[in-house]
Amino acid sequence: MLPAQRAIPRIRQTATAHLTQTMNLLGLSRAEQGEFLNSVLASNPALELTKPTRCPTCRRALYLPGPCPVCHPAREGPIVFLATPPGRGRDESGEENLPEPAQPERLSDFLLRQIGPELSPEERSVANYLIARLDENGLMPESSAEAARYLHQPLAVVEKVLHAIQRCDPPGIGATSPIEALLIQVEQLAETHDVPQAVRPIILEHLEPLAHGEFGLIARALSLPRPEVEAAAKFIRLNLTPYPGRTFLGHDHQPTAPDPELYHEAEMVFRLAPNAAEGPLIVEVYAPLVGRLRVNPEIRTLVKTLSGAERENWEGKVEEAALVEKCLRQSQVTVLRLAAILAEEQRAFILGTDRELIPMTRARIAARLEVHESTISRAVSRKRAALPSGRIVPLSKFFDRSLSVRDVVRSIIAEENRPLTDTEVAGMLKERGIPVARRTVAKYRAMEGILPAALRRTQRAQRSAALSAS
Ligand SMILES: [Zn+2]
Repeated sequence: MLPAQRAIPRIRQTATAHLTQTMNLLGLSRAEQGEFLNSVLASNPALELTKPTRCPTCRRALYLPGPCPVCHPAREGPIVFLATPPGRGRDESGEENLPEPAQPERLSDFLLRQIGPELSPEERSVANYLIARLDENGLMPESSAEAARYLHQPLAVVEKVLHAIQRCDPPGIGATSPIEALLIQVEQLAETHDVPQAVRPIILEHLEPLAHGEFGLIARALSLPRPEVEAAAKFIRLNLTPYPGRTFLGHDHQPTAPDPELYHEAEMVFRLAPNAAEGPLIVEVYAPLVGRLRVNPEIRTLVKTLSGAERENWEGKVEEAALVEKCLRQSQVTVLRLAAILAEEQRAFILGTDRELIPMTRARIAARLEVHESTISRAVSRKRAALPSGRIVPLSKFFDRSLSVRDVVRSIIAEENRPLTDTEVAGMLKERGIPVARRTVAKYRAMEGILPAALRRTQRAQRSAALSAS
């Protein structure tokens, strides 16, 4: 059935309709979702597509409420957000251009471009060295004294260049610790913003309790009212990051990626932050439409002035519009949460090979997200992910238990010194945290075209006999 035909002309906004609609949307690919939403937009004037709001810093289109996920990444874990798909760099209205897709630029080039003009050739080579030393979070792990010794340069020169780097964008880059990164950001913000009084003392002395949300404790230590501490905590959360290197993405400089056309068919793209082999994974989940859906506010007001059948007809349209918007948002949140778990649990596979795929079941992920297993099945269905290698895999692959176990079985047998029995292989799998039965090993071994241990032994004996005969 075409997705468009799933639209129910007159939807009562009941829990059932809501659930059905969310599940339907969740089970569709991005293209199918787009087709369905466009059909509702075309038939129902109460639903409209508005321009996405934009991050004031990086101009990225924001599809969900809240701060920009790239400029204000979470402290921990992957950075996951809804993004504009490639080749859709223009709003439907055509009025406003999204930032042009930038040429891939490395953080080091970006920094050198900012400070290059003010440095002498000698200082530039110091800058080259220091920038190359920045860790994946954009922090400087080495002291200026060490760098000066290594470079055979006066300490004053190294410090001058380091301070120049620290004045660059992204704010806090080149700081020698997360605390220093936060303080540099505060100083920059203080030039244009009111910084709550408690921000600096919290950064200097109370980051640990802040991380645990112990506002009462901080309030007592600083002899400040708790609301002031809460306001400061909110300011820190929304405006500061101890990992300035991560915000480099905020300038739309993408890591070197294969042809974006390659990603055209994917629902989500996994990337690494530039220059950050150890950094968090970034997952862009492509939105089906460029813009945000909402109920047309004028029509909502107008309905109240109508009466009789006309009113009922328009109320139905408003309800349908509200339902579609809500269900889309809900299904997107589910996919984002799923993507975050995949990035977290399957990082090794995403960056590596099939062998690193960790056995994962829909049931366990459902339990982790506190949703029904069928919700995860829908979220996985008809979706594809682009990996940093440029490979596009169906999301179901992440749950392909047999593939990874088969891979491990094959590698265990390939590396055996003597033919291992299926029971022994099962035992070794168990040691690696993959509990499977002996008969499952036998099945996978057969699927890999590997003979049983007894026959492998005979095969070996024949081979060595043939070798010694020749
Ligand atoms: Zn931003």
